[in-house]
Amino acid sequence: MSASPVRIAALTAANYSRVATTLPCKGAKTACHYGSLVFNDKVMQARLPKAVYKSLKKTIEAGAVLDASLADTVASVLKDWAVEHGATHYAHIFYPLTGITAEKHDSFLEPDGRGGAVAEFNGKVLIQGEPDGSSFPSGGIRATSEARGYTAWDVTSPCYLQEGANGATLCIPTAFVSWTGEALDLKVPVLRSMKALDEQARRVLKLFGHANIAHITATAGPEQEYFLVDRSFVLARPDLMTAGRTLFGARPPKGQEFEDQYFGVIPERVLACMAETEAELFKLGVPVKTRHNEVAPNQYEIAPIYEQANVAADHQQLVMTMLKRVARRHGLECLLHEKPFAGVNGSGKHLNWSLGNATQGNLLEPGSTPHENLQFLVFCAAVVRAVHRHGGLLRAMVASASNDHRLGANEAPPAIISIFLGSQLADVFEQLKKGKAKSSKKAGTMDLGVPSLPILPKDAGDRNRTSPFAFTGNKFEYRAVAANQSIGAPLAALNTIMAESLDYIATKLEKAKGKFEDNVAELLTEIAKEHSAVIFNGNGYSEEWHKEAVKRGLLNLRTSPDAMPVLASKETIATYEKYGVLTARELESRRDVALEQYCKSVIVEANLVVELVNTKYLPASIQYQTDLANNVAALKAAGVKADTALLEKVSGLIADLQVELAKLVKTRSHHVDGLLAEATHFKDHVLPQMLAIRGVVDTLEGVVADHYWPVPSYEEILFSK
Ligand code: ADP
Ligand code: MG
Repeated sequence: MSASPVRIAALTAANYSRVATTLPCKGAKTACHYGSLVFNDKVMQARLPKAVYKSLKKTIEAGAVLDASLADTVASVLKDWAVEHGATHYAHIFYPLTGITAEKHDSFLEPDGRGGAVAEFNGKVLIQGEPDGSSFPSGGIRATSEARGYTAWDVTSPCYLQEGANGATLCIPTAFVSWTGEALDLKVPVLRSMKALDEQARRVLKLFGHANIAHITATAGPEQEYFLVDRSFVLARPDLMTAGRTLFGARPPKGQEFEDQYFGVIPERVLACMAETEAELFKLGVPVKTRHNEVAPNQYEIAPIYEQANVAADHQQLVMTMLKRVARRHGLECLLHEKPFAGVNGSGKHLNWSLGNATQGNLLEPGSTPHENLQFLVFCAAVVRAVHRHGGLLRAMVASASNDHRLGANEAPPAIISIFLGSQLADVFEQLKKGKAKSSKKAGTMDLGVPSLPILPKDAGDRNRTSPFAFTGNKFEYRAVAANQSIGAPLAALNTIMAESLDYIATKLEKAKGKFEDNVAELLTEIAKEHSAVIFNGNGYSEEWHKEAVKRGLLNLRTSPDAMPVLASKETIATYEKYGVLTARELESRRDVALEQYCKSVIVEANLVVELVNTKYLPASIQYQTDLANNVAALKAAGVKADTALLEKVSGLIADLQVELAKLVKTRSHHVDGLLAEATHFKDHVLPQMLAIRGVVDTLEGVVADHYWPVPSYEEILFSK
């Protein structure tokens, strides 16, 4: 028997029934720890001098200019608090264009000149850091030799402690820019776009007669899908380990066809892991709320309560970090790739988004009679207009090599960006096209016909699963966001295009003569007429929609190389520059980084395919072929009639595999000039060739005797809980 030792070890090591109970405080007690690692409002109020606290609070809540002269006081209080909580180091946390969370730690300790050391931390190091920026992608903004980059304290996102086994680190959320002042990260555009959104939304609210208008912010609640699989299998699968997804794997006899996973009972081991992840996130003040089984086997979801957009973005990064970290404590691996397994659903991130403030509340709250709520209709129309004008940009903001495996694959929204409004609002918009809206469909109630069951209130509109951008009651849900990606870029895009629409509306209304209500009605009719093409309430997966969308002039940017150029299109540049979110140079650099990342992802996977075929799949198949051949020879020698069909089949597949592999090796090294051309080459030639090879290997997996197979199968990985 020649079973792969790696596979045997993985199967033996898999902890099917292990339930780790490592939580120091369980159950209801977790509440006392909520925010215990955060330098939050309560701590600041208790510890900072009153005037300093007030000034900081104004910056945090009303977007006022940060008074840098306070930094020394804040730094000293912050350090004492951190050290009391076991911190030995501090780190500026930033979010470079790679999408990762970056951190560089420095010790508080400095020699005191007398042979000892003291903990030091001052305003200067709180406000500004200077990490070496040369190894982060800048898309040509910086030459390799030009290293200087700065991190700048984002006072609106609270500092927190990251605990390690041997001490804690004080984490300071920051923005990351180059020495020349250009944004090199995902946070700067979020903050700039939020400022633009506040300014433009304020103009509109003023027109509606509001005198007292609190700072308006975008809000975000990202739902995160992920897989949890036994880590032993990941260690035995170089594709999962290196690419985060399986590049091979025959479909198991059972997949997700029974739909017996979605909202199913959460397995005990997974529940223990989730509870610990949540407890860790609670300590960090991340308000995670919802957990459940997702559609694919071993797939789950976690969702927080929404927060101010930039804080939500920082917290979302912490969610991803913590999911991965805690999973390992339970012998599990958290896969955040958008498509780790072929044949079952992949993972996304639904970005729920709205805008509002303390005085006027959620500006996308329709009330029960939206047709009468002109202010709501204006904000809603602004979204419709923005998404219609910039659908391509929204698509580009979620483009990546990995998300291409998911978008448009009948499990996730199509790459065509349309808006679902629900029947009630869609009806109002239909009315608006013709003039004033006069009625709203009623929400009603539902009598279930059983006296002991309650009468349920019924929403005015159904949900639509297939829409990439859906109105869900009092917020929009952008569903094409990738599981693995930061929500920063899509958030900034939403805020920016919304600011542009609100600017357009405010400018028109400010100039208009006559009765305000009539002017609003006229403008709403104009927007409904010009932009309703983006509203679609039907099945986004259907063929007909794809045809219909073309007729309506909507873009269908199927793949990343199709979409990424929009990141620096004329329209994008004009909009981003107008609202001071990003310059042409910054946008071009982002496009180039995205294309570069795309090419790198594909080439790594292509290299893996070549390596795995050469070192695992071919040798295992040849071993089996040899044993079959020996068997045929032995039978012949014994004078028994030998059936050679299986041997011939295996031999044929091995020959095919070698032919296909040679083609990949050739196309992989084909040189093309220019990033877009290179990405397009990878998409058109390298990826399809990888799939051709996968086809042969997966067929072999179904033919070669199980104990020869060198890696754990889909069945083993997906159905061990
Ligand atoms: P579903 O899966 O039904 O869409 P979930 O409860 O899983 O709903 O997620 C909804 C998300 O939307 C939550 O994170 C929630 O906090 C968020 N959300 C609710 N209201 C707003 C809002 N005004 N702005 C942004 N996000 C919101
Ligand atoms: Mg959900």
